This record gives sequence, structure tokens and C-alpha cells, in this order.
Amino acid sequence: MTSFMTPAGLAAGTTRLLEGRVAIVTGSTSGIGLGIAEALAAAGAAVALNGLGAAGTIAETCERIGRTHDVPVRYDPADLMQADEAAAMVERTRRALGQVDILVNNAGIQHVAPIEDFPPEQWDQVLALNLSAVFHATRAAIGPMTRRGWGRIVNIASAHGLIASPFKSAYVAAKHGVVGLTKVAALEVAESGVTCNAVCPGYVWTPLVAGQVAAQARAHGLSEEAVVRDVFMAEQPTRRFATVEEIAATVVFLCSPGAASITGTALPVDGGWTAH
Ligand code: NAD
Repeated sequence: MTSFMTPAGLAAGTTRLLEGRVAIVTGSTSGIGLGIAEALAAAGAAVALNGLGAAGTIAETCERIGRTHDVPVRYDPADLMQADEAAAMVERTRRALGQVDILVNNAGIQHVAPIEDFPPEQWDQVLALNLSAVFHATRAAIGPMTRRGWGRIVNIASAHGLIASPFKSAYVAAKHGVVGLTKVAALEVAESGVTCNAVCPGYVWTPLVAGQVAAQARAHGLSEEAVVRDVFMAEQPTRRFATVEEIAATVVFLCSPGAASITGTALPVDGGWTAH
């Protein structure tokens, strides 16, 4: 039986369940992805961060996470709108940190508009990043995982992977696609020790949601507080944003040995939204 508990982990008072594993978290320079990268590092994994942002800030983030959790951390600059960049990111990570054991497909963008006015180029961009990049990264990482007999693919979908809201056609279509792709990947590798699951957050307070709140407040002449209370929290029965830490803890659990039989799922972390 494999144990990932190490003397270093015990000394730190944690189990460091992912000690020695190598993880990529796409879109981890901000928001949910950054929280997931931190949580995986805290569990002992070496981490490749990815996403947009100022070089100095990203370097500081890598240094801070590596020092805090005593794991290797590197930054990969892949622009995942470009189809071939996902595979290049997986290969660069393998050369720098070792074979990729954990792939968290998290990078995503939003565009909100009625279908009639939805710019086709925005549709293409949302689909490219939120869905196609998940396929390209999975395609590059899944084979070596199955040949080594262990792997975890976690796709950050959304409550909008399970239900719809108006004006989010590209996002809802992409996230439903991610849930479907998750099931296909899970079935293809089910006997190999590799699992693939989707996490479906409700609203989480991050720059992505802050931008939507500000835009709705402007569009409707309301205060941001009113938009949060009457629009966003109207959907979420707990009446509070889920936290980045709650999403990250779910991802760490799905990567842990105890989750080995959980595969092909779309797990809501949405304060009860999809229970409606
Ligand atoms: P965010 O805007 O804070 O972070 C998005 C990340 O993606 C950033 O690191 C950004 O640099 C990166 N990114 C953007 N374009 C990229 C590109 N071309 N290539 C590589 N990386 C790129 O957003 P967030 O709220 O943390 O969202 C993260 C994921 O969670 C997204 O997939 C989003 O759809 C999903 N999600 C968020 C919420 C929420 O309420 N915040 C709810 C459900 C699902």
C-alpha cells in the first residue's frame, strides 16, 4: 500500500498527502486557481503556476508559495487561448519538475451579453479557453498518467456546467462541455488509476465575479451591494459567496488517496444553488 505521509509532513503537523506529486494549475495567477495552487503546495505537491499577470508579481507569488510550503514552484507562461500552448506547458513542466501527476484545468473567462448581441469573437475566445484548452491539456497529460498508473485531472467547471442563466451563452455552453468532457475522460481511463472530475462552484468572490458585479451595477444604476444581494445571492441559498479556500479544499480532497473511487463526477460547491 502506498503512503504519502513523510517525516517532513509529520514534522509540519500535516499529512502532506501529495508529497512528491507534480501539479499544474492553469489560470493560477489569480482567484480560485491561485488558491488551488497554494493548497496543493501545502499538501506537498510541486506546482506549476500559469496565467496572465505582471512578471514581478508572479515571481513573488512563486517564491512565496515555494518558501512557505517547501516545494518547487515554477511559472509557465502558456497563453491557453493558443491550441498548441497547452501541450507545450505540459512538456515544459515535465522537464522542469517531473512527470505531471495532477492537472487542474481552471483558467477561464466570462462574457455577458444576449445571444443576439453576443460578439462571435468573444464566443470563440470563451470556448477556446474554457473548453478547448481543457481538452488540449488533458490530451497532453492523460497518456503518461495512465502509463504510470496514477493521475488526477480536476476541471473547474461551474454551477453553469449544470444549469443555465441568461446572457452567458458561451460560458454556459463551454462549462456544460467541460462536464461532458470530464465524463468521457473518466470512462476512458477508469481502470488505470487516473480519475477525472469536475468541480462546479457557485459564486466565489474573485476578480472574475467582481468584474461582473461592477458591470451589472453600472448597467442597472444600482449599488454593488444591491447587485450582490438581489442578483448574485438570490441564486445561492447560503446567501454568501463560496470561498476560494472551500474550492481549493475540494480539489485537494479529489487528489487525495481517499477519493480514488470518485471519477466522472460534477461536484457542486455552490451553497445549494443547483438544489433548487
Ligand atoms: P480569475 O479571473 O480570478 O482568474 C482567471 C485566471 O485565468 C487568471 O489567472 C488569468 O490570468 C487566467 N487566464 C486568463 N486568460 C488566460 C489565458 N489566455 N491563458 C492562461 N490563463 C489565462 O477568475 P476565477 O473566478 O478565479 O475563475 C477561475 C475558474 O473558476 C474559471 O474557470 C471560472 O469559470 C471558474 N468559476 C468561477 C466562479 C466564480 O464565482 N468566481 C464560479 C464558477 C466557476
